[in-house]
Amino acid sequence: MTRMAEPFRIKMVEPIRMISREERIEALKEAGYNPFALKSEDVYIDLLTDSGTGAMSDKQWSAMMIGDEAYAGSKSFYKVKDAVKDIFDYNYTIPTHQGRGAEQVLFPHLIKEKGQYVLGNMHFDTTMAWIELNGAVPVNLVIDDAFDTQKEHPFKGNFDLDRLENFIKDKGAENIAFIIVTVTCNSSGGQPVSMENVKGVKNIADKYGIKINFDSARFAENAYFIKKREAGYADKSIKEIVTEMYAMGDYLTMSAKKDAIVNMGGLIAIKNEADVFAAASASCVPMEGFITYGGLSGRDMEALAVGLKEGLDFEYLESRIGQVQYLGDELVKNGIPIQWPVGGHAVFVDAGKFLPHIPAEQFPAQALCNELYIEAGVRPVEVGSLLLGRDPQTGEQKAAGVEFMRLTIPRRVYTDRHMDVVVDALVTIWNRRDQIKGLDFTYEPKILRHFLCRLKPIEE
Ligand SMILES: *Cc1c(COP(=O)(O)O)cnc(C)c1O
Repeated sequence: MTRMAEPFRIKMVEPIRMISREERIEALKEAGYNPFALKSEDVYIDLLTDSGTGAMSDKQWSAMMIGDEAYAGSKSFYKVKDAVKDIFDYNYTIPTHQGRGAEQVLFPHLIKEKGQYVLGNMHFDTTMAWIELNGAVPVNLVIDDAFDTQKEHPFKGNFDLDRLENFIKDKGAENIAFIIVTVTCNSSGGQPVSMENVKGVKNIADKYGIKINFDSARFAENAYFIKKREAGYADKSIKEIVTEMYAMGDYLTMSAKKDAIVNMGGLIAIKNEADVFAAASASCVPMEGFITYGGLSGRDMEALAVGLKEGLDFEYLESRIGQVQYLGDELVKNGIPIQWPVGGHAVFVDAGKFLPHIPAEQFPAQALCNELYIEAGVRPVEVGSLLLGRDPQTGEQKAAGVEFMRLTIPRRVYTDRHMDVVVDALVTIWNRRDQIKGLDFTYEPKILRHFLCRLKPIEE
């Protein structure tokens, strides 16, 4: 058997429809050639993000019915706390409304002085923002191979351990606030970090007395890659791998909207330090809510407690990551350039290679996203120069290195037939790629411009 079918059957459906090509052209024009401004009802297959877009199971939905909505001491909170203890073996848990809520509450207590450094493989954008807002400097120390889209490497999310240690020696351990290990490494394309690499990080952290936080949105997908690719882990369960990895950390922040398969939710967990827990608790109350709900309703916490465990199911992960791989394989077969190997939650199409006639400052990946919407009603997202923006000092466009169009696959939502629609559409576009035009701003916001900007095609 080449590939197992989905380990679930579909119990409830949400109809979707494809509006006509003329309507799509009109909708995109009205959206200012920015897919973020499209109405979701005008989208046929929505691959904007895997965040909060997963399908909950019958067990999650039924758990929601017994949510305990007590303001303090909710039973549902204790189910989340128990699940965290069981999976990660951390003693203290604080729920938050989503991942950035966890960052906002915890980071001020890990950053002792302005100008300290936070060392990561690659920081996620909101994570980077909360580090900077607390006066620290995020530094990315991922291996160079992460930027070579064609290079085969099983763990492109790994830290460059030499650079990590040299950076600490150079700046002094007292100037490092903490190390953040992002699993999987979202910004390099959902690429995993190996257990061996985390051990290397842990050795360095111990040598210099530095703490480790895991940025944990895709903790289960990372463990799946370790099981499949790293020597010595084939016979371990996903949960055993997760527990082994988290034993090397001190804290975790999590967007539960990804691997924990809920539509909204986040977590802070602290392994041992009662003082950090007390400080974070005191911040949580005014920022997110009382410490046994942190911005979530009791029913949200019920779904989260179940989702944390379901996300660890090997057969589910095999089918979920298998689907992402299937999409990647089909695109490669058809000669479409993508980041290789394929990551856990998305396929990244190399739009710079796809549309070499469009320069970076005319946003080739955004042009490709728009074309895919017009061709088949599919909404991908740009991860390139448009997202990166300008240098705040000089106003110059920053250099992206790679112009990606991200096809992000929601969990348990679409079938392989939906993936085929995406492949067929991209092949059709590939055959007329030289007719596609770059884009120019008609409105450019100063910060986080990709969400709200408006564009128009450049006519020669
Ligand atoms: C999504 C994500 C976050 C932020 O979480 P939200 O739930 O979107 O606030 C932080 N880090 C990583 C790695 C993420 O993928």
